[in-house]
Amino acid sequence: MSRIGTEDEEMKAMVLKEISPIEKEPLKMEDLPDPVPGPKQILVKISACGICHTELDEIEGRLPPRLPMVLGHQIVGRVEGWGSGTTKFILGDRVGIAWINSACGKCHFCIGGLENLCSEFRGTGCHAYGGYAQYTVVSEDFAYFIPKRFSDAEATPLLCAGAIGYRDLILSGIRKGQTLGLFGFGASAHIVIQTARYWGCEVFVFTRGEEHRNLAKKLGASWTGGPEDKPPEKLHCAIDFTPVGETVPQALRVLEKGGRLVLAVIRKRNPIPPLDYAQLLWDEKELKSVANITRKDAQEFLPLASEIPIIPEVREFKLEEANQALILLKQGKIQGAGVLRMHD
Ligand SMILES: [Zn+2]
Ligand SMILES: [Zn+2]
Repeated sequence: MSRIGTEDEEMKAMVLKEISPIEKEPLKMEDLPDPVPGPKQILVKISACGICHTELDEIEGRLPPRLPMVLGHQIVGRVEGWGSGTTKFILGDRVGIAWINSACGKCHFCIGGLENLCSEFRGTGCHAYGGYAQYTVVSEDFAYFIPKRFSDAEATPLLCAGAIGYRDLILSGIRKGQTLGLFGFGASAHIVIQTARYWGCEVFVFTRGEEHRNLAKKLGASWTGGPEDKPPEKLHCAIDFTPVGETVPQALRVLEKGGRLVLAVIRKRNPIPPLDYAQLLWDEKELKSVANITRKDAQEFLPLASEIPIIPEVREFKLEEANQALILLKQGKIQGAGVLRMHD
């Protein structure tokens, strides 16, 4: 490998060693050996890493990671070295790394463009060390150029909330001019609404927080209300970003015949209540979950975000403030997206 001259070969990282409620502040600052890029891998000096609800699921055991783990899968940094056989980047290139860290590349899912469903799928910050650190390594095939328009911090939420939201939108089957419902209005939804508006869709937002409703209106929602409220029109498509089960029947109730509800979260905190088939599912309504992302989602979404343009609202924290930032995220107190900023 080559690595630009720094004498010390240790980096700072916030490390998770055991499953725990986030309130106990389980992420600990540690010195870890600098990662060494293997064949086809690049070494990335991280400047910013977004925080995500998935990290709460990992920390609190709903989606247990390999332990110990460096979490974080919305990484922006610069290429600072490489292993053998790399060709894609040069020194100093600004790159992003997302949730998909690798997949086998050979199975029928991978060959058919569904590498997100590969049984060997590895998640950044879950199966491979992620971005709550000063450095990381990744295969060059799973790193993306970041459009110039975005600052490092602004680009981080595009890599998870943005790219997954883009996948949610594609899977919802939404077409130009149709009505879209968004249940929950956090980091992903506030990016999705901007893409949907760009595509000429009318967007109804179901969320309890007054601040979230105001932001939704500012970003072009034509109506906002609570999850139990009735929107002025039926929804052709809906995306449920909430971690609770109750929103599923609530969304199906206001879905148009033949409409599709996409469930965007990896895990629901509580069970989905029994669904009345005649009232909620008949008339060809569909329910679909979303798992992971593909490289194509990130590759397509980053330039689209630049074209629209989508400039995410971000709130910055220091790396050592990761626990506190995640507690605020859990409490729903972060407007837009939370981002950890690294320093030397
Ligand atoms: Zn995420
Ligand atoms: Zn595969």
